[in-house]
Amino acid sequence: MQAEHSSPGRDEPPSGHPQQQLKKFQTAGRGFWHDVAAADWNDWRWQLKHRITTVEQLQKFLPTLTPEESAGAQLANTKLALGITPYFFNLINPADENCPIRRQVVPRLEETHTASWEMSDPCGEDEHSPVPGLVHRYPDRVLFLVTDRCASYCRYCTRSRLVSNASGYDFHPEFDKQIAYIAAHPEIRDVLLSGGDPLLLSDEKLENLLSRLRAIPHVEFLRIGTRIPIFLPQRITSELCAMLKQFHPLFISVHTNHPRELTTEVRDALGRLADAGIPLGNQSVLLKHVNDDADVMKALMQKLLMCRVKPYYLYQCDLIAGSAHLRASVAKGLEIMEKLRGHTTGYAVPTYVIDAPGGGGKVPINPEYVLCRNAGRVLIRNFEGKVFEYPENADGKPCGQPPVKLAASQLV
Ligand code: SF4
Repeated sequence: MQAEHSSPGRDEPPSGHPQQQLKKFQTAGRGFWHDVAAADWNDWRWQLKHRITTVEQLQKFLPTLTPEESAGAQLANTKLALGITPYFFNLINPADENCPIRRQVVPRLEETHTASWEMSDPCGEDEHSPVPGLVHRYPDRVLFLVTDRCASYCRYCTRSRLVSNASGYDFHPEFDKQIAYIAAHPEIRDVLLSGGDPLLLSDEKLENLLSRLRAIPHVEFLRIGTRIPIFLPQRITSELCAMLKQFHPLFISVHTNHPRELTTEVRDALGRLADAGIPLGNQSVLLKHVNDDADVMKALMQKLLMCRVKPYYLYQCDLIAGSAHLRASVAKGLEIMEKLRGHTTGYAVPTYVIDAPGGGGKVPINPEYVLCRNAGRVLIRNFEGKVFEYPENADGKPCGQPPVKLAASQLV
């Protein structure tokens, strides 16, 4: 395997330290597909055509498949299809039942257990859908669902009710109606293309769609939410980048959960998008035994910056039916945020949010840094736990007293 090392700074852990290991860029390699011609392996359509989609294929390529995984894979096609690109499959460590890559894409029997508080549409998208495939939940922006297909399927997908059509949602977006709604609503200045994965559309179809949206005078800003650069970096061709470049301002949000997903192939694909002038952000989902660990999360965030991607959101896992085995607690999320803020570059710190169950939208949650506000002062603590006073009157006006640093014993 090809490997590259980042240069450790003075405060970085020594190379060989687990965190430095996580931050190494490595190729996914060829694995079982070592004899496939390079031209095929690097062809995104070949990767899609050769996805692992059946329990038999999974048993063949992953001999350590557990009974829970085998049962989950057999039932997957009634809930959320099984689909893993050969490229992404190579990131799975077959010797590790709890491999963080494996947990994200290999179905498990636990997906069939639904708690009473879990939902099929936890973000209430269908209730905010004025026309099929369009979600208008926030005042000035819409979510435009383009397709129900993805390159690989994430077992915690919040949109699993429609994605892959395994549960018979029968999603058929009508672009004409979606575009007509946007054109008729001048308050919509921001359109987020998502799905399913918009980058599965051909260059021609995507260009046509983006052109039609760009032609609407009040649409200021376009976004694409995609996991393709992570599941299928071969799709990020120079032709695709040249086409996307025509539609600035166009932002792309990728979705990465573990530093091992950031391979040399992914770094190069993200670099091509960045070179096309596309600002890149990342959304992660907090997942049990995947990234519910401060060192893993910090390595992921720092590695994203090395790929020219700004960590944007860290999501508390939605209450999607059958996801309890993957859901980490809010307490764990807050603990991780506490260990990021101040301890690493501010750019590496995402906003931790809960998408309020039932359609309340994203609510940012943070460790508490304001200890109290009372007459004449706001008491705050920093990342080291040191307490400071910011002088301010109850009406928000400065009180004229200089700020002081307090010992913990002086707190009242
Ligand atoms: S890529 Fe996104 S839409 Fe597709 S399965 Fe994963 S989370 Fe769901």
